[in-house]
Amino acid sequence: MSNRKQPSKTLYGKSDISRTPAIMALGGYTSSARMRRILTAFGKLFPNAHCALVYRNPFQLLVATILSAQCTDKRVNQITPALFQKYPTPQDFAALRPEVLEQDIYSTGFFRNKARSITAASKRIVQEFGGRVPQTMEDLLTLPGIARKSANVVLGSAYGIASGIVVDTHAIRVATRRLRLSQGKSPEKVEQDILNLVPRNRWIQFSYQFSLFGREICTARHPHCAECPLEPICDSPEKTV
Ligand code: SF4
Repeated sequence: MSNRKQPSKTLYGKSDISRTPAIMALGGYTSSARMRRILTAFGKLFPNAHCALVYRNPFQLLVATILSAQCTDKRVNQITPALFQKYPTPQDFAALRPEVLEQDIYSTGFFRNKARSITAASKRIVQEFGGRVPQTMEDLLTLPGIARKSANVVLGSAYGIASGIVVDTHAIRVATRRLRLSQGKSPEKVEQDILNLVPRNRWIQFSYQFSLFGREICTARHPHCAECPLEPICDSPEKTV
């Protein structure tokens, strides 16, 4: 017989919740009380969570975000100071041939695609947006190499605009298989489910708190459940206690 704790009935019951449409859509699994507990725990665990990429302006963050695909923020931060010193403006990047840029960003992996995206996005920023990184999701998504996740990073961290929540692989794992905030099969659906559960004024910081929680506590292999403050409200089959 399993030693795993049985889930608390209050997780599913109606007594502790004021239901929102999103909660109803999730079959009543996540109550507003449960969500408040998650938000409080994240606030205590990671009060200073922020974007780990180093940048001085929105354009540098956009470039760093493209470089961070399939690469650690730490590695990106190792190469960007010299990169931005060498090419200080969007015009500098727009004038580059991708093959030239490849040599500067080689160590971040997928360097051919990234060089093409960065030079093409820079050209568009210069030609269509007056050399400034656009401030709307709609416009950002027209830039080569920029998908919703990257756009959320740029809008949230460079402009302080809460456009959505950054959903990375850690957030997807925690949201779907661990804390079960979403049953979504795509990052877009997972993001939409979370957006419906988290107050808008928490979206920007929640993005980074959620990712840190997945990296440091609710890890892919052997999650640190014994140290997890959310263990009492987690009934994931992947729990280790
Ligand atoms: S109890 Fe374990 S599986 Fe559940 S959220 Fe915490 S670390 Fe993740």
